[in-house]
Amino acid sequence: MRRQEGQIPAACAEGCKTKVYPDELPNTSIVIVFHNEAWSTLLRTVHSVINRSPHHLLSEVILVDDASERDFLKAPLENYARHLEVPVKILRMEQRSGLIRARLRGANIARGQVITFLDAHCECTVGWLEPLLARIREDRKTVVCPIIDVISDDTFEYMAGSDMTYGGFNWKLNFRWYPVPQREMDRRKGDRTLPVRTPTMAGGLFSIDKNYFEELGTYDSGMDIWGGENLEMSFRIWQCGGSLEIVTCSHVGHVFRKATPYTFPGGTGHVINKNNRRLAEVWMDEFKDFFYIISPGVVKVDYGDVSERKALREKLKCHPFSWYLESIYPDSQIPRRYFSLGEIRNVETNQCLDNMGRKENEKVGIFNCHGMGGNQVFSYTADKEIRTDDLCLDVSRLNGPIIMLKCHHMRGNQLWEYDAEYAGKWEYNFEHFFLRHINSNQCLDEPSEEDKMVPTMKECNGSRSQQWLLRNMTLNS
Ligand code: UDP
Ligand code: MN
Repeated sequence: MRRQEGQIPAACAEGCKTKVYPDELPNTSIVIVFHNEAWSTLLRTVHSVINRSPHHLLSEVILVDDASERDFLKAPLENYARHLEVPVKILRMEQRSGLIRARLRGANIARGQVITFLDAHCECTVGWLEPLLARIREDRKTVVCPIIDVISDDTFEYMAGSDMTYGGFNWKLNFRWYPVPQREMDRRKGDRTLPVRTPTMAGGLFSIDKNYFEELGTYDSGMDIWGGENLEMSFRIWQCGGSLEIVTCSHVGHVFRKATPYTFPGGTGHVINKNNRRLAEVWMDEFKDFFYIISPGVVKVDYGDVSERKALREKLKCHPFSWYLESIYPDSQIPRRYFSLGEIRNVETNQCLDNMGRKENEKVGIFNCHGMGGNQVFSYTADKEIRTDDLCLDVSRLNGPIIMLKCHHMRGNQLWEYDAEYAGKWEYNFEHFFLRHINSNQCLDEPSEEDKMVPTMKECNGSRSQQWLLRNMTLNS
């Protein structure tokens, strides 16, 4: 099958226009779950699926209403759906359950060979479906995502998403987009029409072989409302022998909303923390410490029973998380090998480095040590970076300042030498413990008189104010 010129999303890589897909493709069920979705956005999703997919590839569209409270989503929606050219089934959850269990309900009745999940506020572009299904036909254990284009939630303007970013996550287990690293460009030999192997997915839009979805343990039905399920599934796919890709010749728009339009029964933070704990406990092994130490309080959240999910991991003989970090996500924000994870304390003043909750491009601070993790958690990594979450201490001028920048893994201004040496069991040999910035050949020092809240860079002079203790912390979970 060949795409018609002029109907290609402008965003698509040039080479996508000439790609030819097999005539024999698996068909798919489209599963769309919604809670209190607007009529216009829901129907925009449904109509774009129907208008822009070859009908022989559509087994059915399954709408799962997660206990919405809007009348127009009841009988009016059913009446409307009856007149569409593709079978549209509507299921209703008896009570608000969240997107995970709603999707499971939809998947349960799906008859297609593939299940394609979409959020309820999407717009599929011409030719979106064939590249996804063709990739699954090549390898049924590949889970595929389209490039997600951005539909503005103010103007509904359509903006092309990038094929140069892929999915990652930070220590707080927030999903984030990061630049596609050079190794992945090299693997594809610069061909931007080839799929990108992505460590994680955003979660809203993807296709998966139906049998493989079941073999792999569908979703964690112990997760509520929203959150964490996309990382859980991403880790599970990779660790248990599958692969996860962004198919760059497929584009689907999604309305990114600034704020969640619905409530989280039990509280937003509580629900998301619970879901994240479930994925950390089952999949992340000792690396869950990064999540727990940077999010004080989260260890108190009850996450229910995960024994079935752990048994699944055993049954599928899945790789450890360290394998995932090494083989799939070597540029991850969680370092696979590190010297310390905890506070960095000044010997002279007894104060600790503190990111002060500041953002990228701001100065790192220093404050009284509180021993509670959070903003005072830093890791000195095997690559000799000093990082706090996805930011690295970076010095680009003599005498500082010390700025927190996105870690670039290129050494350069983010490279620090630490020479710890213990004289005896509990005694420190104070000829050491300097944090020397290699490029400037200067040492991290206590604050100056002018600003007591930020550390400084000075010539290395052996003073106690230039000595730092890197203390490892773990939290009992
Ligand atoms: N959703 C749902 N029940 C919920 C929360 C969300 O059915 O309790 C649906 C929601 O209507 C949407 C999908 O799940 O179709 C993903 O949610 P959302 O779009 O809010 O997530 P985001 O895109 O913001 O990550
Ligand atoms: Mn959404």
